[in-house]
Amino acid sequence: MRWTLYVDLDAFYVSCERRGHPELEGRPVIVGPDPKNGPTRGVVLSASYEARSTGVHSAMPVERAARLCPEATWIPPDFAKYERTSQEVRHLLEERFGRVLPRSIDEFALPVETPDAAAARALAEEVRAMVRSELGLPSSVGVAASPTVAKIATDRAKPGGVLVVPPEGTVDFLAPLPVGDIPGVGPKTEALLAGLGIHRIGELRSAPQRLRRELGRFGEEIYRLARGEEPTDMGSPEAGPRSRSAEHTFERDVSDPDALREALERLSDGLAESLGQEELAYRTVTVSVRWDDFKQSQRSRSMPSQQEGADPIRGLALRLLQELLRSPAADGGRRKVRTISVGVQHLAHGGARQAKLDGFAAPEPGSAVK
Ligand SMILES: [Mg+2]
Repeated sequence: MRWTLYVDLDAFYVSCERRGHPELEGRPVIVGPDPKNGPTRGVVLSASYEARSTGVHSAMPVERAARLCPEATWIPPDFAKYERTSQEVRHLLEERFGRVLPRSIDEFALPVETPDAAAARALAEEVRAMVRSELGLPSSVGVAASPTVAKIATDRAKPGGVLVVPPEGTVDFLAPLPVGDIPGVGPKTEALLAGLGIHRIGELRSAPQRLRRELGRFGEEIYRLARGEEPTDMGSPEAGPRSRSAEHTFERDVSDPDALREALERLSDGLAESLGQEELAYRTVTVSVRWDDFKQSQRSRSMPSQQEGADPIRGLALRLLQELLRSPAADGGRRKVRTISVGVQHLAHGGARQAKLDGFAAPEPGSAVK
C-alpha cells in the first residue's frame, strides 16, 4: 500500500545553529536580529521550543520576543547555511528512499510502499533517528495514505514525534481539528467559514453546497478532504511547490524609488538563486509592498512560458514595482513602504530534471504569496 511520510524539521533555523554548539541545547534560542544591537523592526525567524514556551513565535516582532524571553540567546540568520543544511537532509533522504519531494526548505514528502500502518510507522521512526544521528537535526513525521493528511498529521506530531493516520481513521482524526489546520486555509478563509458556522474540519461535511458557492473549487476540495478523500488539486506533494517568495523589511520606512528598486533587485537575485538550486522554473511573478500603515498592495503578472534564472524575475519585478508606485495607492510617492517582497508562482521542475520526473504536473498557481 502507498503511504506518504511527511518530514518536517523542528525549529529548523535554530537546529542548524545548534549543530556544533552543544551549549545551546536545552536553552531558549531565537534566530532573528537581536534588538539589543539597536532598534530594529525585524521579526523572529525561528524560535526553539524553550523560547516558544514563553509565548515567542515565528514572525513576532523581535522587541516583543525580547520582552517575553529576556534570557534568550539571539543568533543572526545565515540563510546560506540553512540552504546547505536543507540539501544535506534531501541527499540523505534520497540515498535511503530514492524519491524525495521537497516542499519547502525544511519539509520533505516521501512516497513509500509498505504493507501496513505498523510498517509505515517503523519507516517514519527510522527517518527521525537517521536525520538525528547523521545530521544532528530533530524532526517530526506525519504518516498517512493521503499526502495532505500526512502534512496535517506532521503539525500534530511536533515536536519530535511520529503520528500515523491509517485510512480508516482519517475522518475521525480530521473531524475535531480547526479548519485553519488545512493547508491553504488562512485567516481570510477561516473567517469566511466561521461566518457559515464552520469551525472544525468535521463540520465541513455537512455543507457541500455552501462551500461550493462561497469558495468554488477550493470549497469542493476541502469538502472532499473532510470526507477522507484525497483532494484532487491541493496539497498533493506530487504537484510540487506552489510558490516561493522573499521579502525585506526596511529599518526605516522608505519612499525613495531607487532604494526600493535596489532592494527588489537583491531579493530577485536571491530568489532566483534558490530556485536554481532546486531546478525550479516559474511563470508568474508577484511584487507586494506593505505600506507604513500596514496596508498591502500587490501586482502580479504571468509570462507566456516557464522561465529560469534571475533576469526575467528582475525585469518583471521592476516593472510591477513601477506600476505600484504610480498607482493611486502610492499617493503620488508620498506613501512610504515598510516591507517589500517578490514571489514566483506557477512553479515547475525545469531543465534536466524534467525527463527524470516524468509526469510531474505543473501546479496550479498559489493564490497568495507565502
Ligand atoms: Mg519546520
